[in-house]
Amino acid sequence: MGLAVRCRGAALAIMVLGVLAAATAAVTALSEPRPSLPLAGLRIVVDPGHGGADRGACHFGDGLIEKQINLDMAFRLEERLGNLGADVHLTRVDDRYVSLDERAAFANRIGAHVLVSLHVNRYPSAVCFGAQTFYYPGSAEGRRLALLIQDELLRIDPDNYRQALPGHYKVLRLSAMPGALVEIGFITHPGDRRKLADFSYRERVAEAVARGIVRFASGENPEDPGEQPMPQQAAGERGTTENQTHGR
Ligand SMILES: [Zn+2]
Repeated sequence: MGLAVRCRGAALAIMVLGVLAAATAAVTALSEPRPSLPLAGLRIVVDPGHGGADRGACHFGDGLIEKQINLDMAFRLEERLGNLGADVHLTRVDDRYVSLDERAAFANRIGAHVLVSLHVNRYPSAVCFGAQTFYYPGSAEGRRLALLIQDELLRIDPDNYRQALPGHYKVLRLSAMPGALVEIGFITHPGDRRKLADFSYRERVAEAVARGIVRFASGENPEDPGEQPMPQQAAGERGTTENQTHGR
């Protein structure tokens, strides 16, 4: 009996100590600044490509419409980047047409540090697959960003061999900050279509892009794969993928 009372007393004491500790921790959390997050202070524009009457690349048989995929991916990326401390802004948050000039002007106006444009690729035949990141030719920081994002994209898809490449995308050309354009996959490839339709794959892509941006923000210099295109790309693929449709 005496033992049981002592045990109850001890349990009560432990409970009181626990409550005190929790209260102290709460006060500490309120009074001290949060440990800085990896993207704190970074303003990022996430640009879901297309919208409104401009649907982008589509595969109606599989119900895949680029403008919808891009917007969904933008929301996923926004959430991750926000959790990492970034100040994230989207060029559109619903299904509307926004011109490439307006997208770039918005990023310039709000003083974004980084721009990431999201798209879905297409190719006349079903041979091309894999996510791929582009940067504006001559932009060293854009290239560093694209290489780091592409490195992360390759990690989530062992079959993907694509490298970051320069691309004359208008939205990148008109934006004053380092930017990258991510083609999430080829809508013209059956395997990529399965991935594009798979929300868990979209999550992995959003996480990969966010990790690439964190590495960029940390100042990391990626291993340089060089400018040599892959054999398939050398055979003319580069000039005919979706970037032709985005205006130059
Ligand atoms: Zn597109």
